[in-house]
Amino acid sequence: MASKVYFMDDRASGVKESLVAKMLTVFDAAGLADTIKPGDSVAIKLHMGEYNNTAYLRPVYVRALADKIKGLGGEPFVVDTTTLLGLYASRATAVDYLKTAARNGFTMSTLGCPVVIGDGFIGNDDVRVDLPEGFILQEQYVASAIALADAMIALSHFKGHPVGTYGGAIKNIGVGCASKRGKYNLHLSRHPKYGFHMRPLYPERCKGRNCATWQTCEICCPEGAIQITDTTINWDRSKCHGCFACVGVLHCGAIEFIPEWFDATTAGIADSARAAVKTFAPGKVGFVTLAIDIVPWCDCVTFSDRPIIPNMGVFASYDPVAMDTACVQMAQQSEGILGSAAEEHDVMAPGTMKFAHCSSWMPGGAKSEDVQLNAGVYNGLGSKEYELVEVGKTKLASNFLYATEPLTPRFGRHMKVHPVFPAQGFKWVEDVDLTKVR
Ligand code: SF4
Ligand code: SF4
Repeated sequence: MASKVYFMDDRASGVKESLVAKMLTVFDAAGLADTIKPGDSVAIKLHMGEYNNTAYLRPVYVRALADKIKGLGGEPFVVDTTTLLGLYASRATAVDYLKTAARNGFTMSTLGCPVVIGDGFIGNDDVRVDLPEGFILQEQYVASAIALADAMIALSHFKGHPVGTYGGAIKNIGVGCASKRGKYNLHLSRHPKYGFHMRPLYPERCKGRNCATWQTCEICCPEGAIQITDTTINWDRSKCHGCFACVGVLHCGAIEFIPEWFDATTAGIADSARAAVKTFAPGKVGFVTLAIDIVPWCDCVTFSDRPIIPNMGVFASYDPVAMDTACVQMAQQSEGILGSAAEEHDVMAPGTMKFAHCSSWMPGGAKSEDVQLNAGVYNGLGSKEYELVEVGKTKLASNFLYATEPLTPRFGRHMKVHPVFPAQGFKWVEDVDLTKVR
């Protein structure tokens, strides 16, 4: 049977049609309130954005969702996990992540609920999940704060992703619910065939210490596996644990990706998502996706390019595979945005795979937008068969006004005590020639 995916577009002409209102409306339409019982601890799984990324979801959506969950009797907390390493990664420890989250606008005071880094100080506070149904992963490590919660609402940002081609609900929980240990696992750190230590080495591409950035190449590896001599690179691959820190640092291509790694890891993302869902009782995980600010790369990078397609809207479902399928297919049918990477890669026309060309351009990068989806079907995470239910505007709730009482009577009382208009009136020129400023 096809899974239902509830949808509203991003157009708005008044407060009832704001994206915040639409997000809560599709939440209700999809029946996601049933995931929460009074007293439940409810994880709001959210990517809070890397340092200087600007396309991540704005805190207002999260605040509104947290308030909604509280209204249902749940105890919400916003949660994400520490990342893999990078030379200047800003979320690889819990302390760094909390500082970045606060800079990006996510704090207890802005969200009205705690912000938790779910896998602990450096990322090894987790729960092991057996995964015999996995396509490539046979076990996974899920952050304790997520695995121990009673319910989860995955609030996801749909956009491109350099490994998975796109990032949506599957990626939000597949990568985002995994502890750092789990991220090493799903990125196939020391997999016997696709592991990082198996990457091809091209020492002839290295200029040695004549290269202006040779010191960066040496210090990027926490295992001390990379040495730059006067003339070339020495890489002790036996020390490589696949921490990711050298990715992008060796800009000459002295160590390259194994091309199959992209698809294999993308399938691993879906397996990891299956593991995250398995830590909950049936019916306790719901998905809400905002397909806005659809940039080529994900919220994990330190910049945000111009979006490649226009905003699509907001989706809600119990099935992350169905929801991601709906998002991917809608994106394929969209026109590209002028001057964006879609024009650069000649995929402006409806019916073209935007992400496979604009997001996955690294050497060997994936060229199918279906790998996460197919792996998610394989491991039982969900179905690619979906029914898109467009939620009508008549379903929009009317309680999105800021205050329960109109402002004006209250303001009138204030003005009686402390008038705003000067008693003598404002000084103005009585008549002006507006053609002088037009
Ligand atoms: S960037 Fe490349 S050329 Fe420069 S030191 Fe590193 S490996 Fe060598
Ligand atoms: S060589 Fe391996 S351990 Fe060292 S930085 Fe690169 S991925 Fe990490």
